[in-house]
Amino acid sequence: MRRPLVAGNWKMNGTRASVAELLDGLRQEEIPAGVEVVVFPSLIHVAQAVSELAGRSIGVGAQDCAIEQQPGALTGEVAACQLRDAGCSMVLVGHSERRLILGEADAVVVCKFVAAQTAGLVPVLCVGETLEQRESGQTLEVVARQVAAVLDACGAQSLAGAVLAYEPVWAIGTGLTASPGQAQEVHAAIRAQVARLDEVVAGGLRILYGGSVKAANAAELFAMPDIDGGLVGGASLNANEFGAICRAAGN
Ligand code: PEP
Repeated sequence: MRRPLVAGNWKMNGTRASVAELLDGLRQEEIPAGVEVVVFPSLIHVAQAVSELAGRSIGVGAQDCAIEQQPGALTGEVAACQLRDAGCSMVLVGHSERRLILGEADAVVVCKFVAAQTAGLVPVLCVGETLEQRESGQTLEVVARQVAAVLDACGAQSLAGAVLAYEPVWAIGTGLTASPGQAQEVHAAIRAQVARLDEVVAGGLRILYGGSVKAANAAELFAMPDIDGGLVGGASLNANEFGAICRAAGN
């Protein structure tokens, strides 16, 4: 039985005041005990979130980490071990905004995945196809290649300590959501890919769906057999909406 996870990616949003308000709203939301919830603020708000969520059942993660495993001379970057020290439990790696806007290749994503696990963080490995790739029938191939980059470098067992997030690029921040059937097809393919190497790891692997998840569509997505929760962007900036998504994951 996989414990559902709802992850809130706040992206590059918020001020100290608006983050305080959002955290206050989250503290008042009823979160089902069976659902794991983690928020991913901007780095500058991580300490605030860790402190204001102390003693609550909501964890804090980071949106990225450095490729280097050890802290040192890498101006502007933050090491995974520093994130762990700051109170993070998870870190996103390979988000499509970083792959596409900042040019992060699979090799970079793999380094970040390894750095995260070495530091004791759970990496949330994000994969997904662009609209052009979907329309030309390459979805499963593209996603399999992104997953294989980590499997080839780190082995299937590494996914026992990780989370996967399938996020079709065309559905992120666009209001377009993959249908439950479209998402399930990709989730099942990812699980089958891992199962060919290790069935036990595949059976326990949480695969989140991300791409315009909101309270109105969460339940039907989460009802799919291979969808184990959501990676939520825009809707995670509203405490009521995010709380409703978390409750949908508990049903
Ligand atoms: C995301 O950024 O990971 C995401 C899924 O965003 P949104 O929910 O806004 O589409």
